[in-house]
Amino acid sequence: MQSFNRTTITSCLTVLILLLCTFSTANDLKEVVVLNSYHYGFKWTADINEAISEQFRQDESTRLFYEFMDSKRFHSDEYFQTLFEQYRLKYKNHKVDGVICSDNRAFDFFSEHGKEIWGNVPAIFCGVNDIGEQLDRVDSTRQAIVHEIIDVKGTIDLIELLQPELEEIIVISDKTLSGNIFLNQFIEAFDSKHRNYTYRIINNTKPDLLKKALNKIPSSNRAIYLLSLYTEHNGIPNEMVLESQYFFNELNIPLYSNWDFLMPDLIVGGKILKAADQGQLSAILMQQLLNNETIPTHNYPEDQIIIDEITLLKNQLSEEYLPDNILLINEDNHFIERHKKELTIILIILIIFIFIILLLVSDIIKRKSVEISFIDSEKRLELAISGANEGLWDIDLEKKTFFINEQYAKLLEYKTASEFRFNLSNWQEFVFSQDIEQIKEAYNIHRDGIAEVFQCEARLIKKDGSLSWFSIHGKITERINGKPIRITGIILNINNQKAFEKELQNAKEKAEESDRLKSSFLANMSHEIRTPMNAILGFTDLLIYGQLSGIEQNEYLNMIKRSGENLLTLINDIIDISKIESGELKISADKININELIKEVHIVGLSLCSSLNKPVDVRINPLANSSAEILTDPLRVYQILLNLVSNAIKFTNKGFVEIDYSIINDNELKLSVKDSGPGISDEDQKVIFERFRQVDESTIKKHGGTGLGLSITKSLVELMNGNITLISKPRKGSQFIVKLPVKTISSIPTN
Ligand code: ADP
Repeated sequence: MQSFNRTTITSCLTVLILLLCTFSTANDLKEVVVLNSYHYGFKWTADINEAISEQFRQDESTRLFYEFMDSKRFHSDEYFQTLFEQYRLKYKNHKVDGVICSDNRAFDFFSEHGKEIWGNVPAIFCGVNDIGEQLDRVDSTRQAIVHEIIDVKGTIDLIELLQPELEEIIVISDKTLSGNIFLNQFIEAFDSKHRNYTYRIINNTKPDLLKKALNKIPSSNRAIYLLSLYTEHNGIPNEMVLESQYFFNELNIPLYSNWDFLMPDLIVGGKILKAADQGQLSAILMQQLLNNETIPTHNYPEDQIIIDEITLLKNQLSEEYLPDNILLINEDNHFIERHKKELTIILIILIIFIFIILLLVSDIIKRKSVEISFIDSEKRLELAISGANEGLWDIDLEKKTFFINEQYAKLLEYKTASEFRFNLSNWQEFVFSQDIEQIKEAYNIHRDGIAEVFQCEARLIKKDGSLSWFSIHGKITERINGKPIRITGIILNINNQKAFEKELQNAKEKAEESDRLKSSFLANMSHEIRTPMNAILGFTDLLIYGQLSGIEQNEYLNMIKRSGENLLTLINDIIDISKIESGELKISADKININELIKEVHIVGLSLCSSLNKPVDVRINPLANSSAEILTDPLRVYQILLNLVSNAIKFTNKGFVEIDYSIINDNELKLSVKDSGPGISDEDQKVIFERFRQVDESTIKKHGGTGLGLSITKSLVELMNGNITLISKPRKGSQFIVKLPVKTISSIPTN
């Protein structure tokens, strides 16, 4: 029971509190009238109202009521009297907690009738300008003023700043209350002493007259300062924005003002007042009054220099003169919007342009890469050609140009290709005269299609005038209507090859000669063998079957003996040659007495001479010491000396054959065989030491012989590490000198 009571009491109390709250809220609801001087929809008024309602939006304890006096159009005393009657009636039984008066008309109206209509309510006078002595009508305990003071001087200074060349300010105002106030402010602010330009006032409210007046103004170095502009159209003024657009849009004169509703796109700027600022400040002050707070009587919303950048630039004014701390609106990033069409066209052109550039660039890149690979392959070719030591040439027969590479010039021992002044008209000067025809012929054969390539070998003249063999290869690479236009090729130095070829040719000739000599040797040989053999056989037959005397028999036997000896010599020579050739002939070293050996040869020489019946003095100059002993191969020294002595006797018909010998420095045996015979020509001297060589064929007939004697002698001398020389002149005799290294057993005094 107790708990029921407590719950019921709690519930009842809650309901009561809620009811009380609701009641007290309803009782606290305050009503504020916003009394506007102008008509509904008037821009300035609308902005103020908007700001006031915005400020009160969150404040649920206050309701706003808007009244529009419409005084722009209707401003007669009767009208205001009627208005007063209407409002008095309207608010007769209605409590109003506050009134916000917007603009001077509302302030005047409120001052006169406010108390009667709404009682002694708190009031804010928004946007009031130049109220002068009316100030005493303001009850500072419950009323406050939001002044509307336009900074005319600040705006004039701004104009001056932005237009340094300014000559005149055109001041536009009207005959409204505000218009007159502003005009007076301008005249006051314009201190002509400090300005080096003038001003002109136009405050004609008749549109056509205004238009006319404006059209007379020159546009250069002028500025329009728009203070107020309400011209009448059939007795009804238009909005200032619309008026301004109508009057100033085509004027081309920078326009300045103090009203924010003229921005953007109309005025350049000015010290701008914002309706919203006035409205907001008025609302705040009203809220403070309703809360019984103390507020200042005079309040000044801040103005600010605001510049419309696009309009500034449109009027060709420079941004460099703009002061600091300004608000820049309508910035030029709207440029894109404004020039959308032009920009689109530019963009399309740009894209096409870029596309073309890309095409060109890709084409250039392609070409470059082809060029690079071409250069690469050209370099490779150049390297390969220079590596192969080949010179490159390229003739344009039409342009008559002759290109050669550096290597070509170097092959002819020029430093650079430019130094080598070679062209189509002087090419023959650089070719050995005997080879010119050959080159021409090779070219003609190729040109006529007989040979697939142009190819020849020719001697070219080098820088120093000497000749060098070159192999020239080329091909006609371009023809027009069958006519050669371009021919390209290489040259290759073949000097070494040519020298080698010559060596081969010589060797071949030598081999042929040797073959010929061998054949002649064999022919001689058969003759040489057959002659003594015939003699031996013939005389033997005569001895066997013939009736011969003792003298005849003796003579024939001697003949057989000589023939046998000749045959033996011949056989010995052949054996020696074959031994020398096969390397089987060995040199021995025996102790001999050189005097005795020479003496033996001398005796053989004497007997040969007498057997040939020649009046020749065969003599020796013997060494002083009879015991001249040396270490050498006696058989070969004997053979050498006998060969030389028998040749000397064989070819000397009269005079002498002198055998001379000496030991030099205890290590060299010098033998000399000198005769007064026919001598040997220089030419024959070169060949007589070669095998099977005889000076001429008649020698065989006259003296016999195989042409092996001197060859065997020379081979023996060289086998013994010595040398043989010949001093001879035709008809002046011959001297063969042999020098052999020997070892002496005892000291042998020289001659
Ligand atoms: P051959 O068996 O013909 O004499 P050699 O080799 O001994 O052969 O001599 C070669 C040639 O050299 C001879 O045929 C001769 O013409 C020439 N000759 C050699 N010795 C003399 C010399 N003392 N005087 C002139 N001619 C010589």
